[in-house]
Amino acid sequence: MKEWLTDYTTFRLGGSCRELATVADAKAAAEVIRGWNAARIPWRVMGGGSNLLVADAGIPEAVLRISSELPDCRLEGDAVCASAGTALDALSRFAAEEGLEGLEFGSGIPGTVGGGVCGNAGAFGLQLGDVLERVEVLTREGEKKILPRAALEFAYRQSSLQQTGDVVVRAWFRVRAGDRAALKAKREETLAARREKHPDWRVQPTAGSFFKNLPAEAEGGRRQSAGIFLEKAGAKAMREGGAYVFEKHANIVIAGPGATARDVAKLAARMAGAVKERFGLVLEPEVRFWGQV
Ligand SMILES: Cc1cc2nc3c(=O)[nH]c(=O)nc-3n(C[C@H](O)[C@H](O)[C@H](O)COP(=O)(O)OP(=O)(O)OC[C@H]3O[C@@H](n4cnc5c(N)ncnc54)[C@H](O)[C@@H]3O)c2cc1C
Repeated sequence: MKEWLTDYTTFRLGGSCRELATVADAKAAAEVIRGWNAARIPWRVMGGGSNLLVADAGIPEAVLRISSELPDCRLEGDAVCASAGTALDALSRFAAEEGLEGLEFGSGIPGTVGGGVCGNAGAFGLQLGDVLERVEVLTREGEKKILPRAALEFAYRQSSLQQTGDVVVRAWFRVRAGDRAALKAKREETLAARREKHPDWRVQPTAGSFFKNLPAEAEGGRRQSAGIFLEKAGAKAMREGGAYVFEKHANIVIAGPGATARDVAKLAARMAGAVKERFGLVLEPEVRFWGQV
């Protein structure tokens, strides 16, 4: 049965998909994949839908949504093991509450562990690929495989999963013993800083930073903020239909009332065009487009 992806993305945009199956564990995911493969139904995978722009006309594929209401995390030796459907923020909270250091940077990042590993999500100069030890994936055929970190070829907001299409079902992250009170305080500080700088996607639908930051000017330096170039190019005053740029951050697009995915895509193209014209720099979307947007 067709389902509207509007209900499952933080942009709250997009048309329908052929069918949607929400699963929380590896066994259920493998069953769905094998069933769709046997019936020759093309499919995609999603987690929290917090990095997706889905076309207004929808997509022809079925969608496997790996997401769970309750976190599934546990300590195994010196690693925390989490299911792919666990919210990334819940994983960070679990680590802080258990006095385990290493996952504080994930506090407040929307989406799931699976989506975060696929896109190498991060903040404050740290990303999941820095702390990941290994993952359990299902291949496109539904076969289980364990991959070490090196196989994922992590780079800025990139992993090899974006090419292979392997589906993350579980991940292990290296942690070390830390001070519980200090970790909890750090988490609260991070959440407060994010509340100050980012929109609440439940109130202002968005997918966070629309474009990737630019490569550092010098080797080994920090990446250059796309938001700064966008601001200087006048992006904050831009609007297309119901889509507009967040007043506190020129790299964040909000889908306001009546916005369509097309509005968001047109606005993003104008934003990138302005940076190209003013600075000669090419911005690459961090948000992933599904269908003909
Ligand atoms: C307000 C806001 C703030 C944000 N801040 C940050 C930030 O600070 N840092 C940051 O990095 N991102 C940030 N984001 C973007 C987003 O939260 C991350 O990219 C997040 O990791 C996406 O996870 P998801 O589960 O929502 O993935 P989805 O959006 O559902 O999917 C994204 C991609 O991952 C793939 N995928 C999803 N699940 C799996 C899986 N189990 N196995 C394999 N592939 C999978 C999908 O096919 C798709 O290609 C922000 C977003 C919002 C709305």
